Amino acid sequence: MKRADHRGIGMTSMRTRERLVSRLADEGIKNQTVLEAIRNTPRHIFVDEALASRAYEDTALPIGHSQTISQPYIVARMTEALLGTDDNNLPKKILEVGTGSGYQAAILARLVEQVYTTERIRALVLQARNRFYDLGLHNIKHQHSDGSWGWPEHAPYDGILVTASPKEIPQALMDQLKMGGRLVIPVGDRDEQQLLLVTRTAGGVEEKILDRVRFVSLQAGKL
Ligand code: SAH
Repeated sequence: MKRADHRGIGMTSMRTRERLVSRLADEGIKNQTVLEAIRNTPRHIFVDEALASRAYEDTALPIGHSQTISQPYIVARMTEALLGTDDNNLPKKILEVGTGSGYQAAILARLVEQVYTTERIRALVLQARNRFYDLGLHNIKHQHSDGSWGWPEHAPYDGILVTASPKEIPQALMDQLKMGGRLVIPVGDRDEQQLLLVTRTAGGVEEKILDRVRFVSLQAGKL
């Protein structure tokens, strides 16, 4: 057996990615640019080498520090909701809270002009930064911070995507959203949350429930 086979390169081939993309389409992801971004982003780079052979399964995987890289279906669903359906009014500037592995930020970076992403665990920030660099994704700015407070210096954002779950929507995030901007966020208890699409309107906010999900909790402070 060649060394490449040992390292599971076969499992990370284009064909394996293609199978994931058609599965996501079967599950209801319609936005072709989102599917294209998933097709072109090597998810195996975002997990430990020991898990690389499972990177194109539609499942969440551990990334250390008791955190996980989200399931591809959920990444696709959140990204699709954030982009919206109006091609003439696509978001340009996005804030992500919860960089984790960096995978979701990498997907966003292929679809919008500028991505800002925050993460409270320093070790994950450093790892994600190297991955962005290796993939040549120069339109992602990252910060080691508690993202419950958003990233006010670059506000307002066209869209905010939160990949860890608070019990309630942090007011700071609403405040940093442009008028007409969209916030995609899992809200609820530790064991079960609703994935919400919140749109900031002149009259206040509009809320739509997208899915039932289970994310790690949004936690205060930095590590
Ligand atoms: N988007 C990530 C998913 C990571 S899991 C990916 O594509 O891999 C959620 C992440 O949110 C974890 O890394 C966790 O450390 C981080 N997190 C939790 N609370 C946070 C907070 N208040 N501010 C910033 N990041 C936070």
